[in-house]
Amino acid sequence: MSTESSHDVVVIGGGHNGLLASIYLARAGFDVLLAERNEEVGGAIASGEPISPGFVHDLYATNMNLFLGSPAFADLGADLIAQGLSLATTSRPYSCAFPGGASLRVYQDRDRTREGIAAHDPLDAEGWDRLAAAYDRFAPSLFEFYGTPLPSVAAAKWLAGAAKKHGVSGLGEVGQIILSSTRQLGDAYFHSEEMKAMLAAWGMHIDFAPDATFGGLFPLLESFADMDNGMSVVQGGAGGLAQALAAVARNAGAEIRTASPVESIIVENGAAAGVVLTGGERVRARRAVIANLTPAPLVRLLPEDSATASTRRRLATYSYGPGTMVIHVALNGTIPWAAGGDLDQFGYVHIGPYLRQMSQTYTDAVNGILPADPLLVVGQTSATDPTRAPEGSSVIWIQVRMLPATIVGDARGEIEARDWKRAKDAYGERVLEKVESYAPGFRERIIGSQVVAPDDLEAANPNLVGGDSVGGSHHLSQNLLFRPAPGISNYRMPLPGLIMVGAATWPGAGLNAISGRLAAQELIAGDSVPRKLLKLSDSVKRATSDFRNRRR
Ligand SMILES: Cc1cc2nc3c(=O)[nH]c(=O)nc-3n(C[C@H](O)[C@H](O)[C@H](O)COP(=O)(O)OP(=O)(O)OC[C@H]3O[C@@H](n4cnc5c(N)ncnc54)[C@H](O)[C@@H]3O)c2cc1C
Repeated sequence: MSTESSHDVVVIGGGHNGLLASIYLARAGFDVLLAERNEEVGGAIASGEPISPGFVHDLYATNMNLFLGSPAFADLGADLIAQGLSLATTSRPYSCAFPGGASLRVYQDRDRTREGIAAHDPLDAEGWDRLAAAYDRFAPSLFEFYGTPLPSVAAAKWLAGAAKKHGVSGLGEVGQIILSSTRQLGDAYFHSEEMKAMLAAWGMHIDFAPDATFGGLFPLLESFADMDNGMSVVQGGAGGLAQALAAVARNAGAEIRTASPVESIIVENGAAAGVVLTGGERVRARRAVIANLTPAPLVRLLPEDSATASTRRRLATYSYGPGTMVIHVALNGTIPWAAGGDLDQFGYVHIGPYLRQMSQTYTDAVNGILPADPLLVVGQTSATDPTRAPEGSSVIWIQVRMLPATIVGDARGEIEARDWKRAKDAYGERVLEKVESYAPGFRERIIGSQVVAPDDLEAANPNLVGGDSVGGSHHLSQNLLFRPAPGISNYRMPLPGLIMVGAATWPGAGLNAISGRLAAQELIAGDSVPRKLLKLSDSVKRATSDFRNRRR
């Protein structure tokens, strides 16, 4: 027998943006229910022990820097810490390994980093200085823009302020930097192939292959922000952040239901009016349904009627980027990098090695070809947080960028399987062999490993379509005012009452914690009488009537 309940807002999905929207709304007095399909909230923030007890792996996201730099963390950090969130930070944030034992290392120390770059190539050090100066000059404005709704009065004010602060020539300078591809930016500032590769590797975290326009923004910000701040992970595993967010949401009064997949969105009188959970329970939403979903899984929940036609049409052309594979490794000791020294202590070691491989990898991935030599992001999480592995051993997280969602061939002609179920182990071998070639003896140290293919990622979280870890391409045509589609970058879908937050909305993927906060704030601001006042007036009414009744 199906039941029915009613709330002000129903949130579909407990990714960090759904959780944040719930926190802000519940704190403003809204009655919020969040329904999450999985056993745990967090979405792409989770940790576990998939290989061996005592080895804690971040299953998806690991680098918490975006979250820690977000306005949401500024608002809620103390509450999250009170709920058990604890962070571990390394002063060796990232590095790159190259053939022949060469490497580049970025420390949380500008002088030490520069010394290493200058030793590699003095011309690179000059370029690094120039790019660092551009970062210092423009980053505050860029970070502010990143947290501004689009379009909005605030965005117009931001533009006017930025023009005043930097002048027309300054805007031109920063505009050229962020619109550049990583190849163009590297060529403009650096001399060696290695430095150009270190910059371009950051673009590959999203879907900016070396020649994609607008690829320069993320690498510019990550390169220097990680140098200045180090790199942080959640002590004890990324799941600690999801749990702390859920605790803060519950304390604010939000109801969170896990293992509760939403099966469809109820549309009545031309507006989103609630959801139906698996099992038939109907949950009505008096004010809004907030979907922490990317377009494909969202559209699947919409009834095919005329009221939803515009939303379905606008989201139909949304494009996803190439897929990702994650390999979790439990290791005796640390990775024996040929480059030696303290390389085994860095948060990330990128292995491209060069732009040629990155470029070819992207082209192959979007054409269905298994790349011969993919970019690896080797996360050495237990070097930052030793609590995650027994003494003398370590936990390694390898993200493989980029891979096809559907396989039509193999660039090396070695793997015959054309589906991920059968191809993943062979491809995992290719990845582990690549690490071995930069760290002879690595494989002998492996205690156990787990290969998570693109289709495994999508099965765990329907937002990761084809294993796209960033919830949709971030190319210019689908970014800024065009995310997820032109005219609907302000989180409100054409279907009244339906709001979309998360990686497919501005400002895109990563633990930036922005869309959930901004969408909630807009809903709160749009409330003609703030909920807290309504609640207050309800209690005043109740108290007055109690008083009258008592006098009778
Ligand atoms: C492998 C990997 C590595 C990454 N590494 C980093 C990193 O190091 N640093 C970083 O900043 N970012 C990283 N990212 C990106 C980042 O994790 C994501 O962009 C971000 O977590 C997306 O958050 P979100 O709020 O959009 O929701 P999501 O995390 O996508 O969560 C959405 C939630 O909705 C739920 N859901 C879906 N459908 C339904 C339904 N019908 N009913 C109920 N619930 C539903 C899902 O189960 C999920 O819990 C990584 C991503 C991946 C996949």
